[in-house]
Amino acid sequence: MKTYDAIVIGSGPGGYVCAIRLGQLKQKTLCIEKEEVGGVCLNWGCIPSKALINAAHTYEKAHTSMATMGIKLGSVEHDPNAMQDWKEGIVKRLTGGVRGLLKSNGADLLAGTATLVSPNRVEVKKADGSVETIEATKGIVLATGSTTIEIPSFKFDGKQIIGAKEAVSLREVPKRLLVIGGGVIGLELGMVYQAFGAELVVVEAMPTLLTGVDQDCVKVVERRIQKRGGKVYKNAKAMGYEKQADGSVAVKLDVEGKPETVVTDVVLVAVGMRPNSRGIGLENVGVNIDKRGFVPADEFGRTNVPTIYSIGDLSGPPMLAHKASKEGEIIAEVIAGHKAAKDWACIPGAIFTDPEIATAGLTAEEAQAKGIEVSVGKFPFAALGKAMAMMETDGFVKVVTDKKTKQVLGVHIVGPEASTMISEGALALEMAAFAEDIALTIHPHPTLGEAFMEAAAHAMGAAVHIVNR
Ligand SMILES: Cc1cc2nc3c(=O)[nH]c(=O)nc-3n(C[C@H](O)[C@H](O)[C@H](O)COP(=O)(O)OP(=O)(O)OC[C@H]3O[C@@H](n4cnc5c(N)ncnc54)[C@H](O)[C@@H]3O)c2cc1C
Repeated sequence: MKTYDAIVIGSGPGGYVCAIRLGQLKQKTLCIEKEEVGGVCLNWGCIPSKALINAAHTYEKAHTSMATMGIKLGSVEHDPNAMQDWKEGIVKRLTGGVRGLLKSNGADLLAGTATLVSPNRVEVKKADGSVETIEATKGIVLATGSTTIEIPSFKFDGKQIIGAKEAVSLREVPKRLLVIGGGVIGLELGMVYQAFGAELVVVEAMPTLLTGVDQDCVKVVERRIQKRGGKVYKNAKAMGYEKQADGSVAVKLDVEGKPETVVTDVVLVAVGMRPNSRGIGLENVGVNIDKRGFVPADEFGRTNVPTIYSIGDLSGPPMLAHKASKEGEIIAEVIAGHKAAKDWACIPGAIFTDPEIATAGLTAEEAQAKGIEVSVGKFPFAALGKAMAMMETDGFVKVVTDKKTKQVLGVHIVGPEASTMISEGALALEMAAFAEDIALTIHPHPTLGEAFMEAAAHAMGAAVHIVNR
């Protein structure tokens, strides 16, 4: 029987990062993957969707702002086939890079489906049907990720009723697109196809889009969807559908108790992801699952079985690639015997809608619910030279501080490059910064980052380029 120090099941951003770090720490490591190296993130999640989002943003700019800037492009067209080929090229480069990194750090990669058979052994079923049992002396890391949730009344058919996996691979832009679920994935992908001309309808069961996100930020994105001709139903449930004679799909909605029908060409079901905790042998070893199917872990990544670790989407929300990777790095260090634990002030979130939203820490409402009096600073991109030069003035930076101490509690951004700018907000929270620390830090001019400096100053009543109220 082959024996390793550590076995990692799954090679998504949690698993592959963990295996690389284990290799760097001179641990004999095996990473097992049943599909493609890179997991959801590289193959049909973060990277493919962001490639399409960037293409959509470029196309949108070519149509809307470039002529005003004095750049005449003639006719601007899009070619979904070329776009898919380009996107697939990026995926290939990145997954090839991961294979190379695993190898150069001494971690072995095995293709097959792994099942736990004991606290330190896994069975791997390979494509040729053969089965191998492999042992790990120090630990087994479960990094099996998550899968799209399917709703019974909208079974995927791969063409007209689809999930995110199919939605990032469309080689034809639908004329009409109905998205069930106004969460991150639904809005990101819905807005891509809206930018390329699809009539977009979003159906959200909750009273707001992007539940849990600063609603001032969300309103900016909702207005953009509507400005482009999209329709948003809130407090609305998609009940079922009927195929029409002309090939279209009539979706039946329950909107605040009233029936309504929307005819569309493609339905994207984006109601969330569920953890891949079934079929991996947890029951053979007695690993606990919570009621939502996650495999909870302590600050060292350990499940209730001490030799078995859980990271990434499997271990619980937020289901984000950077959370999975950070857990992967830390748990590798724990297994290698280093002093390491999960200990962070915040996990920032980036939503790649148009414009982008990015958040770190508490919203004003969350802070108030904890009994903290807040002072909120806000600076609009409309007052910023760089944003004007980019012709992207919608949105703002909001800094939530403790009213008494002015310590930063949260940062919420909607606008251009919000996803890049939020790293400074996350750093501020990790360093337990005060509004003054940010306001006194010289930010280069002209940049979008100046909005963060001004918002922090505004929380102290000292912004320069807007009136302090
Ligand atoms: C459309 C979309 C867009 C997204 N965009 C973003 C984004 O912009 N930013 C962000 O942070 N997050 C984003 N996410 C979420 C992100 O993709 C996940 O949080 C991340 O991939 C989780 O990483 P993971 O390593 O936990 O699992 P995964 O990436 O799901 O990888 C798990 C791997 O384990 C393998 N596996 C499962 N079971 C077994 C088994 N028994 N044996 C062997 N292998 C197995 C699977 O095949 C898979 O390759 C997006 C997701 C989607 C769907």
